[in-house]
Amino acid sequence: MIQIKSQREIESMRKANVLTALTHEYLAGLIQPGIMTKELDEAAEEFIRSRGGLPAFKGYGGFPGSVCISVNEEVVHGIPGPRILMEGDIVSLDTGAIIEGYYGDAARTHGVGVIDEEAKRLIVATQESFFEGIKFAKVGNRLSDISHAIQAYVEARGFSVVRDYVGHGIGRELHEDPQIPNYGPAGRGPRLQKGMVLAIEPMINEGRFTVRVLPNEWTVVTMDGKRSAHYENTIAITDGEPDILSMR
Ligand code: MG
Repeated sequence: MIQIKSQREIESMRKANVLTALTHEYLAGLIQPGIMTKELDEAAEEFIRSRGGLPAFKGYGGFPGSVCISVNEEVVHGIPGPRILMEGDIVSLDTGAIIEGYYGDAARTHGVGVIDEEAKRLIVATQESFFEGIKFAKVGNRLSDISHAIQAYVEARGFSVVRDYVGHGIGRELHEDPQIPNYGPAGRGPRLQKGMVLAIEPMINEGRFTVRVLPNEWTVVTMDGKRSAHYENTIAITDGEPDILSMR
C-alpha cells in the first residue's frame, strides 16, 4: 500500500533529506585521489550525527557503513573499507539520514581527479535521466511514466538501465511501496497522488545492464566489468511540480 504523507510529515522528510543533501556536498569536497573509502564513510557518519540526524544506512539489513560507496564497475551497495580512490575513478555515493523518525535518501556520482570523456558522459546522462523522469511525476500520471522516460533518455545515449535494483517509496521506512523501476512501458502502475514520497534512483551502465553480487553479499557489479553511475533524489508529489526534498 502506498502511504500518503501529510504536509507536516513532508516537512520532517525535508529536514532528513536536506541533511542528506548537505552530507553529499560535504563528501564531494573530500573526494580526491588518495582518500580511503572508509574515511569518507566515517566523515559522513560524524557529519550526520553532529547535525542531529542518524545515519540511515548504518546497520540497515546489516550494512556495515553509513554510505554505500561504489567505484567504477560497482553499481550499488559498495562497502566502505581500505580501498583508495585513484585518479580517473568514478565513485557513486548513496547515503541517508533519519530526522524525527523520517528517512532521507539520495545518491550522487563523482569523478576522482581527471576522468575520461565517456565517464563524464555517463555521469551526466545518469543525472539528467532523473530530471527527465520527474517531468512525469505529476498527479494523475502513472508511476511507469517516470520509468519509461528514464529508460528512453538513457538508451538514446547508448547506455543501459539496471533492471535488478529499483527506486522506492520512502517515509518512516527506508523502503516503502511502490517499487519504481527505471525502465518499462509508460502507462502502467498506480496513478500518482499528492503526498506520495518517492526515491527515484536511476542506476545506469556504460555497457550491458546485467549485474551480479560479489561474494561479500553486498556489492553489486556489472557483469561485463564496465562502469556504472547512480543518481537519486527523494521527491514529494504535489498539485504542481514535484518537490525535490533532497536538494537545497
Ligand atoms: Mg534509495
